[in-house]
Amino acid sequence: MAITITKEQLWEAVLGELELQLTRANFTTWFKNTFPIDLADGTLVVGVPGNFHKSYLESNCYAKISKALHDLSRGEIKKVSFIIQVRKSPSPVPTKPTVVANPAPAESTRATAPNSLEINPRYTFTTFIVGKNNELAHAACQAVARKPGEVYNPLFLYGGVGLGKTHLLQAIGNEIRANDHNKRILYISSERFTNDFIQAVRSGEGEKFKNLYRSVDLLLIDDIQFLAGKEQTQEEFFHTFNALHQNNKQIVITSDRPPKAIAALEHRLISRFEWGMIADIASPDLETRMAILEHKCREKNVNLSREAIQYIASHVHHNVRELEGVLNSITAKSQLSGAAATLDDIKQILHSVTPTKHSGAVTPKDVIQAVSRFYDVAIELLTGESRRKEYVLPRQVAMYLMREELRASYPTIGTSMGGRDHTTVMHGCDKITKVLVDDERLQKDLNLLRQQLYIT
Ligand code: ADP
Ligand code: MG
Repeated sequence: MAITITKEQLWEAVLGELELQLTRANFTTWFKNTFPIDLADGTLVVGVPGNFHKSYLESNCYAKISKALHDLSRGEIKKVSFIIQVRKSPSPVPTKPTVVANPAPAESTRATAPNSLEINPRYTFTTFIVGKNNELAHAACQAVARKPGEVYNPLFLYGGVGLGKTHLLQAIGNEIRANDHNKRILYISSERFTNDFIQAVRSGEGEKFKNLYRSVDLLLIDDIQFLAGKEQTQEEFFHTFNALHQNNKQIVITSDRPPKAIAALEHRLISRFEWGMIADIASPDLETRMAILEHKCREKNVNLSREAIQYIASHVHHNVRELEGVLNSITAKSQLSGAAATLDDIKQILHSVTPTKHSGAVTPKDVIQAVSRFYDVAIELLTGESRRKEYVLPRQVAMYLMREELRASYPTIGTSMGGRDHTTVMHGCDKITKVLVDDERLQKDLNLLRQQLYIT
């Protein structure tokens, strides 16, 4: 069968599969700035940002990628090659904060290219499925969107990865913008806020930074947990918060945990966050997962039987992002074959894209043993009290792996690691996540550890 898929579609489908096989941190590190360049002679050429990425992907991900290509193209495309090239057009991943003010129709079409699409127009209340898990958060967001600055200020949303926090946060932005084009709306992640702040201070533009943030009508700040431990940025954020709040400007914050559980967050900020409304988002139940799938199928114009939907919903339960990933793989495959996916196809896809199912056998004990062997640190020391550097890092790595690979809860990890408090575990996991961003050595070590966990 001739291939009708474009290189973009193919690479997107491959990324969809890899996203499910890798941890989020790994996936982001290695694949964020990759893009398809050419598709010819059974080979997909992919652009990567630098030599380090190229050699890492070649030695660690080649097999995974070529297998995904092979599966997705029914054997027509088998090879991938990487070349170093920086993408010319901006990546669709939000990188810069944008104040969106008064985009008059003509102007907005002109301004679509660079920064103006920070808020994803697909993330609206209409495309958000409400279930028991998120109804409070959803209702609070709608109330805030209707009366910004008047009902709950701040609104603080928290919940696990892929459960719709960013979606709801941006839905507020989309709704407020639709109601009033003059509102100045700023959506930003707390990481970006931190980087911009540091940058501004360094280049002597601190005032400009302050003025920008303090002049908005709506501040949407995503993943506030990353402010943990960043004292100067917290101080700046505290003043921004106060300035906006005093002027009845709406602030909405998301986090992966409640304010009190963010270790190393100043008490005065925690207390500010508790002024307004705090709403959590939990994992969707089976019924909601089915409703979400049905909705996404309609959105994508995909036809799946009720039986198929039920099958997927009962086998994929971690989060909504994962549900979407599986649906994308199914869609990509049926586009390639030109026929609707059968239940058998779906079973096969689920089998190949959810490696966590096979890793059901890996336990916290396995992780501790693997880490102990890898770093040559005795188990008693790994789970013990000593704060010497050579024990602390392996200890945090063990916590991180339990969290990322086994999806164990923080208290469970604490118990496995010699009876530690869950906040210590959170701190450990955060620490590794942060260090991983630019510590190549640690990235390699973690990949080796993962291989050992799953191979033995
Ligand atoms: P988080 O920010 O909590 O990690 P996201 O908001 O990025 O999660 O959601 C992940 C994906 O799942 C997004 O594509 C989002 O549109 C989708 N999603 C999450 N919850 C829902 C829902 N209740 N209804 C529809 N789509 C959802
Ligand atoms: Mg998010």
